[in-house]
Amino acid sequence: MNAKTKSKQTGIVHSDYVPPAGFSAFPPAVYHASTVIFDTVEALRSREWIGRDSYTYGLHGTPTTFTLEAQLANIEGGNHCVLAPSGLAAITIVDMAFLKTGDDVLIPENIYNPNRELGNWLSKDFGVSVRYYDPLIGAGIADLILPNTRLIWAETPGSITMEVPDIPAFCKAAHEKGVIVAVDNTWAAGLVFDAFGHGADVVVQAVTKYQAGASDLLMGAVITRDEELNRKINMAHMRLGMGVSPDDTYLVLRSLASMKVRFEKSGESSMIVANWLKQRPEISKILHPAFPDCPGHDIFERDFTGTGGLFSVLFDERYTEAQTDRFLEALKLFKMGFSWGGTHSLSVPYRIRPDRKDWNQRDHQLIRFYIGLEDPADLIADLEQALSTLD
Ligand SMILES: *Cc1c(COP(=O)(O)O)cnc(C)c1O
Repeated sequence: MNAKTKSKQTGIVHSDYVPPAGFSAFPPAVYHASTVIFDTVEALRSREWIGRDSYTYGLHGTPTTFTLEAQLANIEGGNHCVLAPSGLAAITIVDMAFLKTGDDVLIPENIYNPNRELGNWLSKDFGVSVRYYDPLIGAGIADLILPNTRLIWAETPGSITMEVPDIPAFCKAAHEKGVIVAVDNTWAAGLVFDAFGHGADVVVQAVTKYQAGASDLLMGAVITRDEELNRKINMAHMRLGMGVSPDDTYLVLRSLASMKVRFEKSGESSMIVANWLKQRPEISKILHPAFPDCPGHDIFERDFTGTGGLFSVLFDERYTEAQTDRFLEALKLFKMGFSWGGTHSLSVPYRIRPDRKDWNQRDHQLIRFYIGLEDPADLIADLEQALSTLD
């Protein structure tokens, strides 16, 4: 039907305009779609969504989301990637892909807390056996593996208390018994810890962090190398109806090109700031994987090729929570809030769960810092003026 035979109304809906071919620019195109159009009945009937080599429905991907998936898989050294609406949603996909009623999963005590919360839910309402392990257990994890253990979660370094686990030892023990190891590799952004190279089967990224890089969106990714694991991850992703916004995907693609440069700057500045804090009498421990105080530092030295900008400190035990709260509120450049990986430095106080048996530093206040892209000299000046409120 050409323009002359169509009514004005139909012409408004079905445009005949075809832009000239040959447009070329660096930014990837942003495709918005629920419906994907098939040209033939045969194409519609033979559609296949897992393989990423055709398009079937907006939820299963567009050129925009496929581009980001390929980029994230490439950074991590994997072959397959699915995107999720948050880092936590990516974690959920892994649990749903590999666990069922009657199965057992091992989760480290220092895991990102919502992952633990999800574990508690699986245990309470879904008949999954969930056990928590000391992240520094190393090869001893072999003794925890039961006949029904299907999945071991690991996070390196762990959230808040920053212990660095021996992932190769976990993977060796797990693989001898056919157990899958999923690594939350968010801290390293896939840049300075080669999770697959150290044995991981599945890698999760909170793309919200360094990949998004601007504290403005939420996204997650599940990456794998293995075809069969990828199939299960894709089935869970599809069944849960997980999709991401094309505009958010574009923002991540836009940030991704500068991610390594931002990560390195954040990591370098974190070393400068943490080194300064280490000299201060108010601080008793630097829980930064690159510092000897941090449990698992030797493993960090062995397995990592660089550092990110997220770390914690313990205050001297003479300081009360009320005092360190005052310190936090006195900070001006460091803003207080959750998440990290953006351009701005952040601080958060944490109370370590009372039921965490492996934590014996309860007399010390713990504060986590994220170092952004400000001049570290200004960040140090800010810390110095805020520390002066302590005494
Ligand atoms: C932030 C974070 C997540 C969750 O990411 P969201 O996008 O906030 O859901 C998961 N794991 C780690 C280690 C994180 O830091």
